[in-house]
Amino acid sequence: MENRHGGILDLVQRWDGLGVVVRYDAATRTWIFVALHDDTLGRPVGGCRMKVYPRPEDGLWDALRLAEGMTHKWAAIDFPYGGGKAVLAVPHPLEGKERVGLLHRFGHLLNGLGGAFGTGEDLGTTPEDMRELATVTEHVVGRPRGAAGPTDPGPFTALGVLSGIRAALRHRGYGEDLAECRVLIQGVGDVGDPLARLCARAGAAVLLSDLDQAKAVTLAVELGGSVVPEESVYDEECDIYAPCAVGATLNAETIPRLRCDIVAGSANNQLESDEDADRLGDRGILYAPDFIVNAGGAMAFGLAYQGERRQEALEQRVAGIGDALEQIFAEATEAGGGPLAAARRRVQRILARGPRPA
Ligand code: NAD
Repeated sequence: MENRHGGILDLVQRWDGLGVVVRYDAATRTWIFVALHDDTLGRPVGGCRMKVYPRPEDGLWDALRLAEGMTHKWAAIDFPYGGGKAVLAVPHPLEGKERVGLLHRFGHLLNGLGGAFGTGEDLGTTPEDMRELATVTEHVVGRPRGAAGPTDPGPFTALGVLSGIRAALRHRGYGEDLAECRVLIQGVGDVGDPLARLCARAGAAVLLSDLDQAKAVTLAVELGGSVVPEESVYDEECDIYAPCAVGATLNAETIPRLRCDIVAGSANNQLESDEDADRLGDRGILYAPDFIVNAGGAMAFGLAYQGERRQEALEQRVAGIGDALEQIFAEATEAGGGPLAAARRRVQRILARGPRPA
């Protein structure tokens, strides 16, 4: 059972989280992992990812690191939740009855956990999946059974990224007008698509890249933007590079090639390693830490779960991500160490304080 991440027991042994729930769903040959990382600020809450992994261990590894990321995300925005993540490591894409059956059994597992974990949409799961899940469990965050509320986190995440881009521009002393900016968006999916629309509406020139080039072309035509081939995305001149596809696109190989001033995008775990934050700093590129700038969707769903479902109010709170980032940039300038270190210090301060007094 060994692979590049080690076996399942090794992974759990090395992890400092609260615990992991593992179940094998024989009917669909799916491994279900629920990783509970930290409950200092509240019960663990995180998305439910459905994906085909080369091996079950890769799914567990993803769940563990994403659960830890959720601890940071909730703490960074000072929300009363802990870090957790669910991964449904399916053997092949599931549809129809098979998919519904898996979701129902996952829902029963959540019921068995008695509220120890709340979940929502993530990569590979859809608002429809969450509606299905909500028919068997009340532990779906953002949309309590039968209630109205946000159904898709992507546009909220995009709005948060836009406010992060504006904060980065302000910090650079450019004001926050996007009219003169070239924004390169890698991945035009649930987040990248609405982000491209927001940037174009704000007057930016949008450069779009996607593995699915037809998708990028269609959107570029609609928005009057241009398409960047996947292989030249790191070499393209732009003001802002917004990674909105997969993780680890910022690394020792790509960072020297970047021709941008700011990196601000939604992808989780954008940096392959912590040293990549220094590599960006050494090149004079301002980095908006991913777990802050991409918190908009989590924020909107967390607020909805607390009862706030007015679109305008949700958008207003999400736009506050820019203010949080500005503070982080300012602290990084003052104390040194770069924005990632400043963001981590903020997280540690909030975790050390504990839940916000009522
Ligand atoms: P998505 O699956 O809807 O879209 C991803 C897009 O990226 C797809 O169009 C895909 O074809 C493209 N893509 C994949 N690999 C690529 C590559 N190497 N180069 C170019 N394009 C590539 O996903 P999403 O929901 O838009 O999320 C995007 C990223 O943001 C993910 O890393 C996700 O974890 C993160 N994120 C999303 C949210 C959210 O609200 N959806 C919130 C926080 C973080």
